Amino acid sequence: MTNKNFNPFEMAQKQFDNVAELLNLDEGTRELLRNPLREFQFLIPVKMDDGSVKVFRGFRVQHNDARGPAKGGIRFHPQETIDTVRALSMWMTWKCAVVDIPLGGGKGGVICDPHNLSASEQEQISRGWVRQMAKNVGPLNDVPAPDVMTNAQHMIWMLDEYEAIHGAKYPGFITGKPVGLGGSLGRTEATGFGVIFTLREAMKAKGVNPADTVASVQGFGNVAQYAIRKYTELGGKVISVSSWDQEDQTSYMFKRESGIDIDELLGITDKFGGIDKEAAKNLGYEVLPGDEWIKQDVDVLIPAALENQIREDNINSISDKVKFIVEGANGPTTPEADEVIKEKGIFVVPDFLANAGGVTCSYFEQVQSNMNFFWTKEEVLTKLDEKMTAAFKAVYELSEKKKIYMRDAAYVISVSRVADACKKRGWV
Ligand code: NAD
Repeated sequence: MTNKNFNPFEMAQKQFDNVAELLNLDEGTRELLRNPLREFQFLIPVKMDDGSVKVFRGFRVQHNDARGPAKGGIRFHPQETIDTVRALSMWMTWKCAVVDIPLGGGKGGVICDPHNLSASEQEQISRGWVRQMAKNVGPLNDVPAPDVMTNAQHMIWMLDEYEAIHGAKYPGFITGKPVGLGGSLGRTEATGFGVIFTLREAMKAKGVNPADTVASVQGFGNVAQYAIRKYTELGGKVISVSSWDQEDQTSYMFKRESGIDIDELLGITDKFGGIDKEAAKNLGYEVLPGDEWIKQDVDVLIPAALENQIREDNINSISDKVKFIVEGANGPTTPEADEVIKEKGIFVVPDFLANAGGVTCSYFEQVQSNMNFFWTKEEVLTKLDEKMTAAFKAVYELSEKKKIYMRDAAYVISVSRVADACKKRGWV
């Protein structure tokens, strides 16, 4: 989702270049890792409900698979671009490496807006995507998953198409499937819960009691909703969330000083995570347009919507009270804003560590699907907590030992692991 002034792939490369310097990586490895190994772009013709034919553009990028099959979601979004998919696929490589799961990085997308598509049109796009990619994805080479505006329904359509093409059952082809049809219990909660597992560890490390803290969250979709639930369970209070308003084509913050009520808000939220403004006002929420979520007098900021949300132009509106930024979204902070965050001494749990719970649980789903034996929700979430906690501790310990920023420490661990795999395979 590139806009005129922001290119996520350039940002991902810039972040990588900094770490390549820190690690003193050789030229060959740099060249290999700062670009995707493989890219696919294709067209998906769809017979629309009104009888017309519309052609959609689809993407799949496999950034690196030295540590295992590529892994990453498929987004349906009107502003999807190849550079967004490239960036997200690169971040997936680092994400799988930082939590030490045997998978590489991939990402996919289709330029379309599900707000304006019927179920049958979305099914054709899902099946069309698989028809174009069927030979280059699969349990042993590239495993897709849901992402922004795709869900378990899209995944099962995709699995069905893949199995029809290959003439057998391949439940390990895709993750995020419905529970009962190869999906894992706990996948829905995994990313949001994982975000808070890392925040909990960060607070432990800094001697802060979550019950004494207040947070502001950007977004009210899958990640935000479960992050809020877990944070509230730990005793924290969320005073504001924000969401995109499809009708007004802008975002709004929903604030209540006494704390938001997640279930109450869910009752007035659509399936895209958009909150009904009038209903919220009737429930006593203050509703304000724009970037207000970032300006709140809180201890914790959780960006959990989209990339490019904490930027040079709004970073200085962050309150001096903010002690933690936990990045639920992918790429929410630009490198320029990151410099300011470093100067302010705010503790950051970087995106590819904080939101790695989703892919970790997807990996668990793949493992369960491949062995055709499924764990209880408790087992899944316990394993998830262990993985996230271990990954956080490794990054935190390195950042303390080397006196480096958390994002740099996470990158150092990931990039070293991937570079090492490329070297051992004899690629570089
Ligand atoms: P989602 O589609 O369920 O929800 C997105 C939310 O963000 C919605 O509430 C939407 O209204 C809101 N939003 C969109 N634009 C906004 C804006 N400009 N201002 C304020 N709010 C806005 O998506 P999700 O699955 O919750 O994903 C959110 C982020 O987390 C994305 O960056 C995604 O790539 C990342 N992520 C998701 C997962 C996962 O498992 N779902 C895993 C890792 C990372």
